[in-house]
Amino acid sequence: MAEETIFTKIINGTIPSKLMYHDDLVSAFADISPKAPQHILIVTNKPIPSVNDVTREDEAALGRLFTVAAKIAHELGIAEDGYRLIVNVGRNGGQEVPHIHMHLIGGQKMGGFGFAGA
Ligand code: 5GP
Repeated sequence: MAEETIFTKIINGTIPSKLMYHDDLVSAFADISPKAPQHILIVTNKPIPSVNDVTREDEAALGRLFTVAAKIAHELGIAEDGYRLIVNVGRNGGQEVPHIHMHLIGGQKMGGFGFAGA
């Protein structure tokens, strides 16, 4: 089992957060440093370090990230206008926390993809 992460501590309540969703596979909470009017993190409860580490056993949890993203987008009232889902992987991908998570970002029109040097 991978090591406990800052997101594990949020999921189990050791670190406080604006928890928006929790079930047996995933949890969702507001990003502490929002990059848009709505910025939610949807994380697997299992601390999988990155997409590079997923196995077929994880497919239910990974699929749940999308169904919960859609549910939260509807609840926030941003589903119809649209939003962006991002999964960063590793150093070049800009991943800071080694625990798989999906960013749900919305509430405004998004710009480009933000390549370094672009
Ligand atoms: P990454 O760069 O790994 O894809 O994204 C990590 C995200 O986690 C960042 O957007 C960062 O603001 C958020 N984050 C880091 N520490 C905390 C925390 O303690 N609480 C919350 N709610 N978000 C955090």
